[in-house]
Amino acid sequence: MQTQILPELLDTPAGQRADAILRKCVHCGFCTATCPTYQLLGDELDGPRGRIYQIKQIFEGLPADRAVQGHLDRCLTCRSCETTCPSGVDYGELIDIGRERVEHTVPRPLRERLMRRLLGALLPHPSRHALLFRAGSALRGLLPRRLRQKAPRIRPARAYPRGTADGPTVLLLDGCAQSTLSPNTNAAAEAVLSALGYRVLREPARSCCGAVNQHLSQTEQARDWVRRNLEQWRQVDREHGLHAIVSSASGCGVMLKDYPKILAGMPGDHHDDLDLVARIRDLSELFDADTLRARQPGFRAPEVRIGWHAPCTLQHGQRLADRLQRQLQQLGFRLEIPRDAHLCCGSAGTYSVLQPELSRRLRDNKLQALEASAPEVIATANVGCEHHLGSAGDTPVRHWIELVADGLSG
Ligand code: SF4
Ligand code: SF4
Repeated sequence: MQTQILPELLDTPAGQRADAILRKCVHCGFCTATCPTYQLLGDELDGPRGRIYQIKQIFEGLPADRAVQGHLDRCLTCRSCETTCPSGVDYGELIDIGRERVEHTVPRPLRERLMRRLLGALLPHPSRHALLFRAGSALRGLLPRRLRQKAPRIRPARAYPRGTADGPTVLLLDGCAQSTLSPNTNAAAEAVLSALGYRVLREPARSCCGAVNQHLSQTEQARDWVRRNLEQWRQVDREHGLHAIVSSASGCGVMLKDYPKILAGMPGDHHDDLDLVARIRDLSELFDADTLRARQPGFRAPEVRIGWHAPCTLQHGQRLADRLQRQLQQLGFRLEIPRDAHLCCGSAGTYSVLQPELSRRLRDNKLQALEASAPEVIATANVGCEHHLGSAGDTPVRHWIELVADGLSG
């Protein structure tokens, strides 16, 4: 599509990227059919093509207002539209650029500003949110129904058998919310990775990938996390020589893999940083059914029917869901794929707090689809989806790696 970006914006890295992305869009509207917010609201402006058009208008000089801000806020950044798009439009990057521009030009009411500041200051820091989440989990049974749904169910880390780690060294990232809400995920990940032969290191200091701040358009805070992580990884790499930097939360993985785009907007020479970032892997990329079978002949996939929920960050953001599904099925896992598997569950980072009504509707639709096959457990790959779906359904929700770790003991 043709663009006429304001010259002063075309002089900025964000304006240039927006222009390049907008020019790829041919305005065909195929993406609209697979957009969850368009399906719920039936408004073109709450679908990808409409949002792209609104961002184009902003960069061409039409002032944004609260209505435009609302349409951009209601986007889940699920990137289902990217998977559908035949022209390769980088919608995820464009929406971040558009939101940041609107954030600077359209003031929010005080209540929204405070809520967004609170989320950005609380969620990325385990030292700040751990007490709150733990208290919520402990008092869950005593809370009224509405509040109970918001209180997390924390399962402590279990002890798993360990393999002989004689292979390459990997750094397993703890994450911020996951380290508090689902410590068992990385206990299981460590056991499976070592069963696959990897020597697993844990982070010297827990950190956040920066996704929470990035999606709240708190760009400087997000960049601080990027700097802090790179510094920590450089130090570990110097001491141990890292084969890979591994995230077990697909929501973090997709952000970490976007570091090159974020670094491109930061001053300085990032040549060495890019070498480190190129070693970032989602846990599923190191997971290999044949290697596990060869190294662990006693492995038995648990005989349970599993409702499989591939997070958007795994299937659309990283395009890894099909591979992981095949690997799990090869090992004997009985995965039930729900209808409309491409649609978001409504968790989407802070979306469940900032857009509770839409988030609830998406969650209930997703649970209905998943529970149609009467699974004994729902498996997913991201801490946000795990707790969002687990807050309302009757079926327990676990990270897929925990089910694999269960199979290690036969
Ligand atoms: S983003 Fe892709 S699918 Fe959507 S309107 Fe543009 S070109 Fe078409
Ligand atoms: S990212 Fe998801 S919610 Fe946003 S426009 Fe694309 S499909 Fe719709």
